[in-house]
Amino acid sequence: MEKININELTLEELEKYIEELGEKKFHAKQIFKWLHKIGVTDFDQMTDISKSLREKLKANTYILELQVLECQTSKKDGTQKFLIKLQDDTAIESVLMKYHHGNTICVSSQVGCKMGCKFCASTKEGFERSLIASEIEGQLQTVQRYTGEKISNIVYMGIGEPLDNYDNVIKSIRLINHPQGLNIGARHISLSTCGVVPNIYRLANENIQATLSISLHATTDEKRQQMMPIARRYSIDELLTACKEYIKITGRRISFEYALILGENDSYEDAMALVKLLRGMLAHVNLIPVNEIKNGAYKKSKEESIERFMNTLNSCGIVTTVRRELGSDIDAACGQLRKKYLEKRENTKM
Ligand code: SAH
Repeated sequence: MEKININELTLEELEKYIEELGEKKFHAKQIFKWLHKIGVTDFDQMTDISKSLREKLKANTYILELQVLECQTSKKDGTQKFLIKLQDDTAIESVLMKYHHGNTICVSSQVGCKMGCKFCASTKEGFERSLIASEIEGQLQTVQRYTGEKISNIVYMGIGEPLDNYDNVIKSIRLINHPQGLNIGARHISLSTCGVVPNIYRLANENIQATLSISLHATTDEKRQQMMPIARRYSIDELLTACKEYIKITGRRISFEYALILGENDSYEDAMALVKLLRGMLAHVNLIPVNEIKNGAYKKSKEESIERFMNTLNSCGIVTTVRRELGSDIDAACGQLRKKYLEKRENTKM
């Protein structure tokens, strides 16, 4: 019989499983705590669990352990970028960013991405598979163990499209959020989507207080379609209608991400068009000077255009910030380490 990944079980599933092993249900809570709050990697570290139960667990289950293959640390701001290997030899990236208000981890939700956004490095190497919940939560456990740092905030902005891996992402949020686990409040969790509209409606009804970020990047369907294939499926109008519904149901402010690209979407007229789209919404805009990727067509906007864009929005009452670039010396933009890993994996196959 194949051993099961015990980290993937919710507390309720673990309780059921422990009873199936002929043991008392309350042990599940103890085990769940060891796995998710403490993050142990060995059953023998579970000191309040009897030896016989530990042996049963060892015989039937395993603790998921992800392997750090590489860690790059920025000399400028301490940002750390991790290349993490999964059990099937695929690899993902996670980034640890240190802010005054605490440590934030940027997690991957898929191995690669299907979305094909033109400016994004994560999608260039193609899609391998979606992550399961314990592999998403496991990124936090792995980075906490590796660095000894406590993580207080999570953003789903690494490799992959979280709303294209809906069930696993929701399960991972519930694991991370669990009082017997890492116990990180949903308000400290942000999820970013390129705009998978039906799943924005689903998310609105999950009763999770997470922050939603929408990757907008353009103000007309025509321009957005050139940049992001998802825009061919859902119009800006459909996307914003879903966002308004999300705000109505959750009462949460939405953050709109807008990558500023030289001569593409960074004019005064573009800023005014964005004002028109978002006016009256409980929204915040996050401007990201585009990270130029290898062989990419897009160049970063000039400093004065970024400044003008931000000022235009702010003066029209739309709260706007420019994302501080972290880890610029280690190229913290996602996808680069995985690309290198894939090339190496290909070469060793030959
Ligand atoms: N798939 C999700 C989350 C991943 S990326 C999404 O699309 O939202 C996180 C954010 O970085 C998104 O807003 C994405 O559009 C943006 N992004 C990706 N590549 C970028 C680049 N080269 N420069 C600036 N922003 C980029």
